[in-house]
Amino acid sequence: MNDGKKFETEAIRTQLERSQFLEHSSPLYLTSSFVFADAEDMRASFAEEKDRNVYSRYSNPNTSELIEKICKMEGAEDGFAFSSGMAAVFSTFAALLQSGDHIVSARSVFGATHGLLTKHFPKWGITTSYFNINELETIPELITPTTKILYAETPTNPGVDVLDLEVLGKIAKRHNLLLIIDNCFATPYLQQPIKFGSDLVIHSGTKLMDGQGRVLAGITVGSKVLIDKIYRFSRITGPSLSPFNAWVLSKSLETLAVRVDRHCDNALKLAEFLEDHPKVNWVKYPFLKSHPQYEVAKKQMKAGGCVVAFEVRGGLEAGQKFFNSIKMLSLSANLGDSRSIVTHPASTTHNKLSAEDKATVGITDGTVRISVGLENIDDIIADIEQALG
Ligand SMILES: *Cc1c(COP(=O)(O)O)cnc(C)c1O
Repeated sequence: MNDGKKFETEAIRTQLERSQFLEHSSPLYLTSSFVFADAEDMRASFAEEKDRNVYSRYSNPNTSELIEKICKMEGAEDGFAFSSGMAAVFSTFAALLQSGDHIVSARSVFGATHGLLTKHFPKWGITTSYFNINELETIPELITPTTKILYAETPTNPGVDVLDLEVLGKIAKRHNLLLIIDNCFATPYLQQPIKFGSDLVIHSGTKLMDGQGRVLAGITVGSKVLIDKIYRFSRITGPSLSPFNAWVLSKSLETLAVRVDRHCDNALKLAEFLEDHPKVNWVKYPFLKSHPQYEVAKKQMKAGGCVVAFEVRGGLEAGQKFFNSIKMLSLSANLGDSRSIVTHPASTTHNKLSAEDKATVGITDGTVRISVGLENIDDIIADIEQALG
């Protein structure tokens, strides 16, 4: 935190200046544009001689409040808020890269990010090489004179593998690369990548940040110089977050710490239950001692997050039977919601991956991903137990 107050306090007390009505909770500024006193005021505002709102594609009080709050949470200088997590991912890369540039990325990235890197960026001459998440030592071999960005997510989706942020930070520094981390699975409450040398941090606000499955949002935060480039690109291309969604999300963040604490408690209890279950082949959760990167998770995270991955014994057929037997949990592709969600990555979120890519990121036909919600843990476990039976 910049000014010394604790995380929970900043999440609640970072707030717009009160208007003439002395409201307690920040109002919603649903306005596309802002007015000027006279011709000189307008000229100076457009010339950026004044720090003020001009047009909501550039900035708006509600998005500014949200950005300031997340910057404090992540320990960042500045940020820009986007209409979705993918708008943040795309705009961040597009603003910073030129034709001919190269990205080195973890192979286990969000499905749409994988599509962006492999199907769309090559059209503009931007290429990507992947490293396997358990082979960070191979990263330097992939770096070329045109490499600009080192990119990763941790914990990963859906395998909940953990990458050592300190190691990534050192590699990026040694090779003069920008380190960009998608911190969506952890949230700034559990992990702050900037502390480990990340230059920029990206979030999908759609997940735990909103936490109630209502709005799409994205944000990129980091150094002022880099954010300024992203801002210049974005104020022209228009991926900005709407004031309404920013207002919803800023309210959601007031309860982020208490929600994420409960998500993590519930997820750990579910992971421990599954670890002892005879119909389960393996369970992965960052704060289970059996997790391959348990020590790294302990070093860089406050708790394990809301996602548990496991494999139902008996392959595809058993997996489908498990799915069709679920009664309460939602069968959906989202995560980080107050409602617990079951997903089958092989046939849904990751169905565009080749069989080989699925194998390298640890997705088998029987892999199940649970986003553990805020219902009573006894009811969550009861539903999964009856479905396994
Ligand atoms: C969901 C997600 C995104 C994309 O966010 P949207 O808000 O759905 O566009 C990016 N990265 C990760 C890790 C995600 O889980």
